[in-house]
This record gives sequence, structure tokens and C-alpha cells, in this order.
Amino acid sequence: MKTKGYAVKAAKAKLEPFEFERRALRPNDVALDILYAGICHSDIHQAREEWGPALFPMVPGHEIVGKVTALGSSATKFKVGDLIGVGVFVDSCRNCTNCKSGLEQYCVEGMTGTYNGYERDKKTIAFGGYSDKFVIDQAYAVKVPANLDLTGVAPLMCAGITLYSPLRTWQAGPGKKVAVMGLGGLGHMGVKFAVAMGAEVTVLSHSANKEADAKKMGAHHFVCTKNSEVFETLRMNFDLILNTVSADIDIDPYLKCLKLDGTLVVIGLPGKPYAVNVGTMLDQRRRLAGSMIGGVKELQEMLDFCGKHNIVSDVEVIKADYINTAYDRTVASDVKYRFVIDAKSF
Ligand code: NAP
Ligand code: ZN
Ligand code: ZN
Repeated sequence: MKTKGYAVKAAKAKLEPFEFERRALRPNDVALDILYAGICHSDIHQAREEWGPALFPMVPGHEIVGKVTALGSSATKFKVGDLIGVGVFVDSCRNCTNCKSGLEQYCVEGMTGTYNGYERDKKTIAFGGYSDKFVIDQAYAVKVPANLDLTGVAPLMCAGITLYSPLRTWQAGPGKKVAVMGLGGLGHMGVKFAVAMGAEVTVLSHSANKEADAKKMGAHHFVCTKNSEVFETLRMNFDLILNTVSADIDIDPYLKCLKLDGTLVVIGLPGKPYAVNVGTMLDQRRRLAGSMIGGVKELQEMLDFCGKHNIVSDVEVIKADYINTAYDRTVASDVKYRFVIDAKSF
């Protein structure tokens, strides 16, 4: 199937128009016309090889919403015309304990990423969502609730689930004080979800000009972290801190903001190790954890939660020829709060 998209051909190169073929439908596949594709900071990290060697040409994009156009001979999960979402992985081994428990993102063989890797045949390069068409095994796609504003749905497929999952795992809810570090694509979804779950929510941001937006999203408190003295007032304050910061930072002052048995979950992946002060961890029996996206079952649960609470991402819709500028603006923390590409522009 002839497909138009944008690709990066070498590390740090600009993205440019790229045509390629999607596979013919296998029995369990669905084909979709992509409507919108979000730009995740992970796309930028990989296109710029900030996580180590990458596979080129790369068509990034793992926040995809589209309309089903064709079904494989055995595919019954969706109908032609259904709105579906595709996220960060398109397959996994399906046999390990984690896959069998709906935690495909932690597949012991490694999930099959939507791009920057090979499909399970180990020879076909997987091309992602910066394109106009997609083909995926129905088991790895999810149904989008009909009531949501479609432009803000694509980012739910990575930014949304990546914050929803730890908020559920660490039981954010009434009586819990939750802080979100970084008000970007991921962070702003964390604020919306934590507020909807009933937690008391604080945004910890290095951008003073984001306070009004944070409050509009429902955050109860906003603290600008530019001035390090603010950390004194936050000592032993939070049950849960979700770190979505994409850059290298010192996390010790943030760890000190956890109260007894509190947990800081690392979600942002700058690509360099964090230094951890053991004394800070011993004090207050603090915990440091990680969390990566969410499985297919939880993706559907998250989308249904969004449908019920009318939650979508705040987006700036762009045309494909703006992607390179959008990358630079994202790195400069200048996006409100997710760039989404209109797939008609490929
Ligand atoms: P983003 O939209 O660029 O947001 C990152 C935010 O981090 C910025 O908006 C900014 O918030 C803050 N920040 C940036 N530079 C900073 C600096 N120098 N000092 C302090 N704060 C800074 O990125 P995103 O798409 O949300 O992704 C965030 C990170 O999560 C990336 O590293 C990405 O690869 C990773 N990620 C992880 C998963 C997972 O499964 N764990 C999934 C998706 C993405 P303020 O302006 O409010 O400070
Ligand atoms: Zn992502
Ligand atoms: Zn598996």
C-alpha cells in the first residue's frame, strides 16, 4: 500500500518527505487512514540518536489516531469506519507472563516498537505515524470514544497512557498529594488525569509563564522551580511525584519533597543516568521507581476514562512541513502542549 510520510535519514538530519509501502493485509490486520499523529519528545530523542544508535530511514510517530478503511480476512475487532488509536508498540511475543497479563510494554522479548526497529520478522523496518496510512494487527489497536475532539486524541496514545498508568499503579486519588514535574506533552496529561482522579495536584515547572495554563487544567498549585529556594517549602510534602522532564536535571531536591514512603516515578528519559543521593532515599523510606507507557488493556481503559471525563490533550495542529520547527520548539519547552500533525498534509 503506497504511503506518504516524513522521515529522518540520518541522526540529527532534518525530516523530509518520504514515500514507502505498507504491507498487504494479513488475516488479523486492519488498515487505517491516519487522521492525526502527535509529536512526542521520544521521537526527537530517537531522531537525534540521544538514546544510542537508531535505525534509519526513520518515520517517527507513535501517537496515532485514524479511521479503519479495510479489514483482514479474520479481523472482527473493528468495523470499517471505526476510529482507532495506535500507540508505542505494534506487536510483542504474546506468550510471556507479561504479555499474557496485558503488560505487553514489558514483554520479556521486548515490545515491537511502532518505529526505530524491526518488525517481528527481524528484517522489515517498522515505520511510524508521521504518514497517511497504517497497517496493524487488530490486537494492538484500541477503539476511540466517539465524543472526544479528535485533534486532541492522538497524544493520548503515548503521553496520555504514560501518565495514566503510574497514577493508577500508585493509586492517585482523594487524599493523595501528587506532583507533576514538567508541564509538557506528558506532564499536562498527568495534571488532567490526577485532577480527574481526585488527587491534590501540584505542577513543578521551570517555566514561570505556564502557571495560568496549569491552573486552567485543574492543578491546585503551581511552583516555579527556577529559584531553588522553593524546594525548602516543599520538603516531605508529596505522596507521589511523576517526573516527566526530558532534560538532564538534579533529582535530589525533588526526592526530598517526598513524604514518608512516598514515590518518585521516573518517566522522562533524557538518556543519561541520574545521580541518586542515598541519604535522601534512606530518610523517609523514600522510593524511586520507573514506568513505561501502558499495555493494550490499560490503553482502552484510559481512552474510556477520557471519554467519560471528556479529557483530551491541548494541541497545536500543524502541517507536515512544520515538523522540524515543531521539534525545535518542543525542545525549547515552547509547545501548548502537544504538536499534532494533520495527516492530510503528508
Ligand atoms: P515535552 O513536551 O518536551 O515536555 C518536557 C517538559 O520538561 C518541558 O515542557 C519542560 O516543562 C520540562 N523541561 C524541559 N527541559 C527542562 C530543563 N532543562 N529543566 C527543567 N525542566 C525541563 O516532552 P514529553 O513528550 O512530555 O516527554 C517527556 C519525557 O518523557 C521525554 O524524555 C520522553 O522521551 C519521555 N517519555 C517517556 C515515556 C515512558 O514511557 N516512560 C513515554 C513517552 C515519553 P516546564 O517548562 O514545565 O518545566
Ligand atoms: Zn511517546
Ligand atoms: Zn511477551
